[in-house]
Amino acid sequence: MERIYFDNAATTAIDPEVFDAMVPFLKEHYGNPSSIHAFGRRSRAAIEQARRSIAGLLNCMPGEIIFTSGGTEADNMVLMCSVRDLGVKHIITSRIEHHAVELTAEAIAQEGTAKVHWVRLHPDGMPDMTHLEELLKVTEGEGVLVSLMHANNELGTRVDLSEVGVLCHRFGALFHSDTVQTMGHYPFDLSTLEIDFVTCSAHKLHGPKGVGFLYMRSGAGMKPMFLGGAQERNMRGGTENMAGIVGLAKALEIAYRDLEEHHRHIQGLKERMMKRLKEEVPGVSFNGDVSEQSLYTVLNVRFPEDGKSEMLLYNLDIEGIACSGGSACSSGSNKGSHVQEALYPDAEGASIRFSFGRFNTMEEVDRAVTALKRIFQLEPVKA
Ligand code: PLP
Repeated sequence: MERIYFDNAATTAIDPEVFDAMVPFLKEHYGNPSSIHAFGRRSRAAIEQARRSIAGLLNCMPGEIIFTSGGTEADNMVLMCSVRDLGVKHIITSRIEHHAVELTAEAIAQEGTAKVHWVRLHPDGMPDMTHLEELLKVTEGEGVLVSLMHANNELGTRVDLSEVGVLCHRFGALFHSDTVQTMGHYPFDLSTLEIDFVTCSAHKLHGPKGVGFLYMRSGAGMKPMFLGGAQERNMRGGTENMAGIVGLAKALEIAYRDLEEHHRHIQGLKERMMKRLKEEVPGVSFNGDVSEQSLYTVLNVRFPEDGKSEMLLYNLDIEGIACSGGSACSSGSNKGSHVQEALYPDAEGASIRFSFGRFNTMEEVDRAVTALKRIFQLEPVKA
């Protein structure tokens, strides 16, 4: 049985071109980038080339890119260091942020170093902009960081970054967006967007795991979270993940080179899945926003099943289909999704996230629909 991978929001397969670009930095070019000899200089040049390439794609300055171990570290850094270094006394965020933001905000609130305000959400997961404005008004001038993700990893609901950024800056608040699910899927012009921090993870865009970056607007003034080395212009101690950084830059380069083609292809997969499920599986509905504005890689489906999402996930796995009940972190544990809990606490049925990537095909969508119909006994049992 050929397995189908519809869990691209959890992680993606490494692109062969990315892999090839990384290999020399695992084999030949092993010099420590901080060493001043030729081996070290070769490695340093590759890191700086990667930084320039990423900055070029996002229209920011190379010095504004800080390589990290991924999205979680970058998100933690923004919240923790902005409270510690930038006089942030209020964090405005939401209950459907990735845990890297939500739990960090909760930890900060518990320590008592800043107050956390949870912005109200519409049923599709969009922040209530009127409430956001009210929160910004009452905290104005007291040191505020707003952290709202660009697109939700479970629902695909996508926030308008320019609208939120303009509002935040109007009230003098800093704005961070976790763009882990959208980086490489949409163009970003960081020179015009009103945004102070953006976070990225390579493994969500066909790059390697364990590497990502924080974009920090020049002059933001945050200090490092990890001490012990002068790497990343004193912003992150620790010998750099050389091959990872090279792979990240390559992955982003490919993503932006072929962006329109990938968008069209993946959007087509999502639309076909939606259409077929609506027509052929009675009682299905969709969680979050599914309009054209939503993230085209994610489709969150609610099935009218009496049982639990875990049972449906298990049956899909037996059929050879990998998808998820929530984010990757919660799908392996017995806990339900905090996003579903925040938005649809009384919902019945089983919610499943299908997330598509450029290596998926229409044929796989059709096979998945057939498998679902078999599970729901709408299709004759396999011989
Ligand atoms: N933010 C979002 C929205 C994510 O989906 C993820 C990954 O699940 C992360 C942050 C964490 O990124 P990483 O796996 O690189 O730590």
